Amino acid sequence: MEAYRIENLSFSYPQTDKKALLNISISIESGEFITLCGKTGSGKSTLLKQLKSILTPYGKREGAIYFFGQPLEEVDEREQAFQIGYVFQSPDNQIVTDKVWHELAFGLESLGYDSNTIRLRVAEMASFFGIQNWFYKNVTELSGGQKQILNLASIMPLDPRVLILDEPTSQLDPIAASDFLNMLKKINRDLGITIIMTEHRLEEVIPISDRLVVLDEGKIIVEGSPSYVGKRLYEMDHPMFLAMTTAMQVHASVTNSSTYPITINEGRKW
Ligand code: ADP
Repeated sequence: MEAYRIENLSFSYPQTDKKALLNISISIESGEFITLCGKTGSGKSTLLKQLKSILTPYGKREGAIYFFGQPLEEVDEREQAFQIGYVFQSPDNQIVTDKVWHELAFGLESLGYDSNTIRLRVAEMASFFGIQNWFYKNVTELSGGQKQILNLASIMPLDPRVLILDEPTSQLDPIAASDFLNMLKKINRDLGITIIMTEHRLEEVIPISDRLVVLDEGKIIVEGSPSYVGKRLYEMDHPMFLAMTTAMQVHASVTNSSTYPITINEGRKW
């Protein structure tokens, strides 16, 4: 089943002729883990924000987006609030209450759920995320990495079908970032939730992604499995190939291993 189908999507911000997105067409299957890559300004954030109507920036949009077969603009805001979880860069921007347990309960509370359902779902998620020990803490007592895990955990009681994340580890140290991305993979694998994200820590995210989508100047220049994308970028002599090989070297040095979980230059000497 398709989680998203995007057809010929173009977008420009107000008072500019330049298109931030140009003729984007892509289909994303339910349960996939997709990472958008590309240099700063290539359109990654703009594309992510199109995937939830309430976040779509003001501007001129052409083309169509379908969410589980339905035009996105016809999926009402309440449904989008449940079904499309969004995690921002800064862990602090998303937290709205002062206690961990309240943060976990807040989404369901504001949607009018009864207290028994809230208690049950919150307990399930605290256990899934292994954060029972923080349950009664003040949010201010948490580290940046713990806050970002809490942001993720507090979306989950709403039972989302899709999670969208825009550079979620940019303010975390490498260990916290690695813990966060492992948790994300667990959500994808164990709960079957579709993940669509941007992430600059390629060494961490390439091995856990089913598909990479490389953007350049608002266009998709290549997309596919990490191995395929690596091979195409090499053939295109594109600077992203260097970023991928650097990621492999970083991974090898951090993990003390000579191998990377994927091969990006099959059959080639380099
Ligand atoms: P990325 O996430 O890959 O760094 P963005 O989606 O943020 O790229 O930006 C894509 C393009 O849109 C860039 O040319 C950027 O300057 C432009 N852009 C982004 N946000 C705005 C905005 N609020 N107003 C006008 N132009 C913008």
